[in-house]
Amino acid sequence: MSADVEFAVSRIASVNPATGEVLGELDSAGPTEVRAAVARARATQPEWNAWGIRNRIEVLRRFQQILLAGKTDVARRITLEAGKPLVEALLTEVLVVLDAARFLIDNAFAILREQTLAHGNLVMKTKSGRVLQEPYGVVGIISPWNYPFSIPATETMAALVAGNAVVLKPSELTPLIALALQSLLREAGVPNDIFQVLPGEGATGAALVASEIDKLIFTGSVATGRRIAQIAAERLLPVVLELGGKDPMLVLEDADIDVASSGAVWGAFMNAGQTCLSVERCYVHQRLYADFLDACSEKARKLRVGNGMDEATEIGPMVHERQVRVVESHVEDALRRGARVLAGGARLRELGPMFFAPTVLADVDHSMRVMSKDEETFGPVLPIASFRDDAEVVRLANDSSYGLAASVWTRDQSRGEWMARQIDAGTVMVNDAVSCFSISEAPHGGVKSSGLGRTHGRWGLEEMVRVKYVDSDRVPGMKKIWWFGYGAGFTPQMESFLDLLYARPLRQKLRAGVRSAGAMWRRKL
Ligand code: NAD
Repeated sequence: MSADVEFAVSRIASVNPATGEVLGELDSAGPTEVRAAVARARATQPEWNAWGIRNRIEVLRRFQQILLAGKTDVARRITLEAGKPLVEALLTEVLVVLDAARFLIDNAFAILREQTLAHGNLVMKTKSGRVLQEPYGVVGIISPWNYPFSIPATETMAALVAGNAVVLKPSELTPLIALALQSLLREAGVPNDIFQVLPGEGATGAALVASEIDKLIFTGSVATGRRIAQIAAERLLPVVLELGGKDPMLVLEDADIDVASSGAVWGAFMNAGQTCLSVERCYVHQRLYADFLDACSEKARKLRVGNGMDEATEIGPMVHERQVRVVESHVEDALRRGARVLAGGARLRELGPMFFAPTVLADVDHSMRVMSKDEETFGPVLPIASFRDDAEVVRLANDSSYGLAASVWTRDQSRGEWMARQIDAGTVMVNDAVSCFSISEAPHGGVKSSGLGRTHGRWGLEEMVRVKYVDSDRVPGMKKIWWFGYGAGFTPQMESFLDLLYARPLRQKLRAGVRSAGAMWRRKL
């Protein structure tokens, strides 16, 4: 049965998770709309590419200034649809996008410009090489609901500045903020067909994966990422997969308890724990364990939970009912297996069904789902275990199928950096958690089941281009010695030639000879 027949036209509703108010309803895009959008993008992309990178950078500059002027409005829209406190919408979404624009404005030209490739193969010295970085064409982006503005916007900006057209399928839970991004980019001068948002559920995403896109940037769960990778493999569609995390926090015995406990509470509970980089597992040296538990539970109990539109709110609602149930089941499972609740532990129903109390669990271990190798909790839960020595904590931290990020807490920075090298993760922070996402120069992405490829920084930009090597011979009238005409004696001649090229003393002499011949030749010219 074709995807078209299976697809039932559906409507999606955007709901304010704090109040349950329906903010808007939209038709999901079906396979026909997806194919049409990709075809429009493909038809217009060569013109966008021909604008040149400097003109596209100017569009980004305008976008950045329009966003800056409208920052409060954008932050309010994010909070309405995704629940997070207004200040988090401003700092973890709007600021991240403003800064990613700054990075691209300042660096995209230097990173993407055509480069001459110097090479050291003496046999090929008549050849000059150029490396071109060309846009893929149409980039599909599929994004989640937890950072509904910063994730699609940073990926979109990198794709656009490189000369691609973008078709974005945002999460079905947060389509309105994606449409706001579309309006801002169009106001800045991005042509309509160069950036298109297609609202819809998973089926719309599946239709985008099946369409004629040239590259896919997917951010979401491991389960969906795996399904997408299998489909992409069929036609060798290049993909970047930014998937889940189960980030460990390692509190070494010389850590400052007050600083590390504040870091743990923020890292586990900001955005109600719905961050791919959230602290999901906390390991504390046994000497600090009791004091650390006291500090975390006291700080967690003081957090103000409520509607993110209220400026006093520190923790907003969760976004997804399914995810609240996962959190409940992880807490129940931990308690059944012997964990202790030191703070929270249940929904705050008096505030509404989507509010879950910041929860601190003690005496947890890897037999519990909340600390398991391959399940994210993705909610406001901070499970804390103790460890005896460095070897044990490194083993525990690496005992996971995920490898997105981790953090090490110590007063000794060089020790922290040494520990960072022992941990299997795409990013390791020393004395901070989560916030590296706002360093636009830094690569973002995971190892193991946390994904493939990188977004952000030069690495994220390089994901948006194909590398083409142009190899050009400067002596067009010369036949190459390696062409046909091998004949008797050619093989031993070539053996001597290899010795000449690669036996070290001979090679040094030869290089010197080539250099002086080159200098003589240049003088003659
Ligand atoms: P999800 O996998 O359920 O959905 C992500 C997106 O994929 C949504 O837009 C969804 O509609 C779409 N989708 C669902 N099924 C699809 C299919 N078969 N084909 C194509 N698209 C499909 O994830 P989520 O619940 O929206 O997001 C939470 C997850 O995202 C967590 O696991 C979190 O750790 C992860 N995440 C990772 C990063 C990162 O940078 N590594 C960042 C944010 C979130």
